[in-house]
Amino acid sequence: MKKYSIGVDLGGTKVLCALIEKENNKILFEVKKKTKKEKGNDKIISKLFEALDELFKNSNINKKEISSIGIAAAGQIDRKTGILVNACNLECFNLELVKLIEKKYKIKTYLANDVEAAALCELNFGAGKGFKNIVCIFVGTGIGSCIIIDGKIYYGSSGSAGEIGHTIIDVNGRDCSCGGAGCLEAYASRSAIEARIKGAIKKGRKTILTDLSDGQNFSTKHIKQALDAHDEITIQYVNEAIEYLSSGIANVINFLNPELIILGGGLIQGIDDIYLKTIKNAKAKALCIPSENTIFKKAELGDYSGIIGATALEKQNVI
Ligand SMILES: [Zn+2]
Repeated sequence: MKKYSIGVDLGGTKVLCALIEKENNKILFEVKKKTKKEKGNDKIISKLFEALDELFKNSNINKKEISSIGIAAAGQIDRKTGILVNACNLECFNLELVKLIEKKYKIKTYLANDVEAAALCELNFGAGKGFKNIVCIFVGTGIGSCIIIDGKIYYGSSGSAGEIGHTIIDVNGRDCSCGGAGCLEAYASRSAIEARIKGAIKKGRKTILTDLSDGQNFSTKHIKQALDAHDEITIQYVNEAIEYLSSGIANVINFLNPELIILGGGLIQGIDDIYLKTIKNAKAKALCIPSENTIFKKAELGDYSGIIGATALEKQNVI
């Protein structure tokens, strides 16, 4: 068996490549390149090649020892063709990632989006180890999720299953980034909390967040600091988001009856109180039997979940 694999995290502002020892998931070498100024297919692919070339050079590894390259990309992908269909932050459209990498390096390459890579990471190496029927929900800027049935990701008939963030929880609801209205993401993500607080500031309410931040972007860290300082507006809108999030999760419990729900993402990982209150409320709102039998865990693998999860794609055999 080949001993190593390469994981690539193609995020909104960086390319992170790592050489991983498969036996123990140990990261042996990593190369990180910022992509802030580089946008568009040509610039992103050359940045990625630059990072991979540097990884091969630094690690001095023989390519024959590498079983696969797994890429986790922040965007919409086509698993069958290995094409990055749409990555807005990188301004990449219809980029033939898998084909270009396989042509240059002659190594089998797999492509996943960042949410499924993080879910695969939890399933194989993190909070999901030993479980087979899992729903992973990541709450941050948006809300991403992934359904795992019998140890494998359930993609749905056209590959888009698991979009809990775009399930509608208010028929007369707020506009959502997807073009729809009333979606969970517009009520329970960090962006939703941020938008609600900004609305209150416009109406003249005062919050410590204007002193803690630049007044434009409220990070999870800022929200936590404001909660710790008992800031009234922050407490109000965080509690509101918890109400919606727990309702969304109660729907998942009732609809799918999973054995395990893994919660992750910036807002969950960064603020323990949100995690604990969400679980408590979701359990109270769901039907008794599935509620009693659903286990909750926090995601265990943070910043490296994309690259480590991407190396598990060869097991999943998605392409
Ligand atoms: Zn939506």
